[in-house]
Parts: sequence; structure tokens; C-alpha cells
Amino acid sequence: MGSWPDTMKDAATVGRIFKIIRDRGPLSGSDIVRWSGLAKSTVSVNVDRLVSAGLVREEAQPDSKRRKLKVAENAGHVIGVDIGQTHLAVGLCDLEALVLDSVRIPIELVKQGPEQVLERVCALIDGLVLKAGVERKDLFGIGIGVPAPVDFARGMPVSPPVMPGWDHFPVAATLQERFACPVFLDNDVNVMALGERDRGLAQNADSFLFVKVGRGIGAGLVVHGEIYRGAKGAAGDIGHIGIDGDSTPCRCGNLGCLEVVAGGAALQAQAAEAASTGRSPFLAERWRQGDEMGAETLALGAAAGDPFALALVMESGKAVGTVLAKLVNFFNPSVIVVGGRFAHLGERYIASIREAVYRRSTPLATADLVIKRSQLGDEGGVVGAAVLVLDEILSHRNVSKILEETNDGHQP
Ligand SMILES: [Zn+2]
Repeated sequence: MGSWPDTMKDAATVGRIFKIIRDRGPLSGSDIVRWSGLAKSTVSVNVDRLVSAGLVREEAQPDSKRRKLKVAENAGHVIGVDIGQTHLAVGLCDLEALVLDSVRIPIELVKQGPEQVLERVCALIDGLVLKAGVERKDLFGIGIGVPAPVDFARGMPVSPPVMPGWDHFPVAATLQERFACPVFLDNDVNVMALGERDRGLAQNADSFLFVKVGRGIGAGLVVHGEIYRGAKGAAGDIGHIGIDGDSTPCRCGNLGCLEVVAGGAALQAQAAEAASTGRSPFLAERWRQGDEMGAETLALGAAAGDPFALALVMESGKAVGTVLAKLVNFFNPSVIVVGGRFAHLGERYIASIREAVYRRSTPLATADLVIKRSQLGDEGGVVGAAVLVLDEILSHRNVSKILEETNDGHQP
């Protein structure tokens, strides 16, 4: 041990100060006193510890002579991994989850087992680390998002509907063995919500919802800055909430689930049918030219005023909004960020979601509610996975552990 008594209280204090700097920095010493409510001397002693351990640095401010404290973003690196149904993206990030370099390749998750995909992940990580000249000891951890329910504590997918062979596969343990650093696995939607919290549109929101509209539909709930996973890790699975009056059969065995009404796969199937039958002249023409009947084509159709495309975009927005209205009444978020590939259906889509939410939620719950489309784009999954690992390795407890190791001379 170093010169600091290893008491729980000290550990909690330094961890708390670091979290304030991470969430709100750059900050002056007196800002930290104000945010923490701690004595000036306590703040000063702990800030010194963080600075000498290399986790926090001083930064000159352009508008004043005073220097402010922020996370030493270059003190180490983390890896963010985004495993999707048709893509695999890996990014090398700094300690503020800024993506320094990344690679993205196509995969077919339903056909490739965990061994094959994780082998690719390892190769991509090795490539990035080598290229950047990052040393093993400076790789603080790896975060991974997968399109499946996840047992977070054990780092494995549980009963994934679209990932044959991945059920209870030890994903985190496999990578941990290979890279000798902490590895964390979570559901892709939770991961993307964390990305919005740290680098997206929910940076000042204490409690918010992230909704991913991909082939399916899911939500990530952030409560007081932290992901709410629920009793079994299934929180936010909103794709199977029923739409009143709809009787379309869903793969889950129920009728009229949000996913079969407004999920990307459902929209794609309806667009393809309208194209092949000529019901939508716009889509039929695109179809002849070989375009995919995806979000982009539908958005173009709606923008061009094609009645079928416009109706489909607005109907799906209304269905999403109707379910979100129930969640708004129940959860009262301050922000809803809508992301995923099928969130890119144009302004009419977001407007339809807003309209349904405002119509069906209570006035108090919607008083200052903001509903926006994610701006993180394809990078959202990688950024979020980096934030996931940063949250864990730089948690209250771990920060004090890092300081102890520094005092013992285990780290530079
Ligand atoms: Zn269902």
C-alpha cells in the first residue's frame, strides 16, 4: 500500500471526485467543491492523487489564466466492439470514448458462430493496436455490444433470437483470456444508450430513453446516469409491446407487436411488396434499378411525396410513438433519442413519433420532453461500447485501486 489509508471512505471520495471530473469536466477546483459538497482541502488532496496517478490533467483555458481539470484522455486506451447482424465494427478509443481509429466489416451473424466472429474481433483489435503502437499495458479494457439479451455479470448472451450458437457462450471470458484486460459485454441497445449519454444528444439528461429501430425495435433506459437492466437483463425489450387493434402475427407468438408493425424487417417486406406489385410507382422504379428496399429508399420515397412510402413512414412513426407514449407516462424521461438504421426515415418520421407521444402522454410528462434522432450514426455502437468499459474500469472502486497500484509503482 502507498501512504494512503485504504479505507472505504477514501476510496469512495476519490472515486466520486473522479466521476464529477469525468461527467462535467473541465472543472476548476472550486467547481469540484461546489458539485461534490466536499471540503476544499479534501478536494485538493484527492485531485493531487488523481493528477499524480495520471488519470486527471490540467488544461489551460483560452478565456482565462486559470487551469481546469479534466480526464487525462491519453492516459490509456479502450476498445469498443459493435457486433451487429450484418456488420462488425471495432474502434480504438481514448479515455473520453473518442474514437481514434476504427474498422468496419460485413458479417452474417446468423451463419457465423461465436468462435469465428470472435476470431475476427481479435484480429481487428490486434490490427488497430499494432497500427497505433499501443502497448498491452495501456489497453485498459474492452467493451462489446451484441444484438441479444445479455447476462451482464457473466459476460454472455442469453437465449439470443438471432445468434445461433451464442447462447451462454463466454464472450467476455474468451477475450479476457486473449488480451489480459477487463472485458464487458452488454446488449447493443444499452451500449448505444451509453454512447448518447457521453458523446451524443443525451449529455445533460439525468434520465432518458434511447430507442433503436433496426430490423427489430429495442430501448435502453438510463436512470440517474446509469443503465437500468432489470431483474433478468430484459429491460427495454419494447419490440413486443402490443399495438391495440393490430393482429399481425409476431415470431414471439403474440399478435400486433410493435416490431412486426414498425420494425425494419417489417417495413422492408412491405416496401418490397409495394415495389413488386407496382402499388408504389416510386419504389417500383427503384426496385427495377436494383436498389435495396431499406430505410434510405423509403426516406427518399416519402420525401418525393410517393403516397405509399409516405404513409408507411408516418404509420410506423405513429406506432413507435404510441408505444413511447406509454413509456413516457410511466418513466417520465427528459429526452428520447431515436437511433438505429431505420430511424433514418426523414423528418416526417420523427414528427409522427412526436405527434403520437404528445397526443397520448400526460402534459406534465411531456412539458420539457425532447425527442431527437441520434447523430452518432454508424459509430454509435463503438462509442457506446467504449463508454461501457470506461464506466466499469473507472468506477468508484476501481479508481482507488488504480491509485493504490500507482503508489506501489505497478504503473508508470
Ligand atoms: Zn412479438
